[in-house]
Amino acid sequence: MSKIAIFPGSFSPFTLGHQYIVDRALPLFDKIIISIGLNSEKNKYFSIDEREEWIKSVYKNNPKVDIKRYEELTVDFCNKIGAKYILRGLRNSQDFRYEKNIAQTNKDLNSEIDTIFIIGPAKISHISSTIIRDIIKNGGDVSQFIPKEIDL
Ligand code: ADP
Repeated sequence: MSKIAIFPGSFSPFTLGHQYIVDRALPLFDKIIISIGLNSEKNKYFSIDEREEWIKSVYKNNPKVDIKRYEELTVDFCNKIGAKYILRGLRNSQDFRYEKNIAQTNKDLNSEIDTIFIIGPAKISHISSTIIRDIIKNGGDVSQFIPKEIDL
């Protein structure tokens, strides 16, 4: 049976922080499905199509990475596609508090699914899509924070 993980998020836009989490998790799984949640408030600035295209451009040569959109509960989406793992990144204790509650709630909803956390190096822990959107809105250059394949 193949080991499938989803990496859920809004990816608005996909950053070097997201890329780090996916790349480090790749040896652990047969497939990682980067899953763009359609029901988050943060989704408004970039269209779903452009977010998806950017991620595709980063992983176009990696058959272990797929990109999908979803609208249902994360655990229901996992069931639908046969994923037993939810991948998330941790930047700081604020992320931890939030992620712990979500992970335990998902455990209550489906005890067969585990959330796997990866902590990145300090040099990327300040990178967030929210800050990148603010830089873009104010006309700044964000190229140092996003994968080189993404032309924003
Ligand atoms: P959400 O909308 O669910 O918060 P995001 O797109 O902001 O999703 O992030 C998706 C995942 O990537 C989250 O687990 C988040 O903690 C992780 N992540 C984002 N940026 C970083 C980073 N710089 N370092 C480590 N993990 C990160």
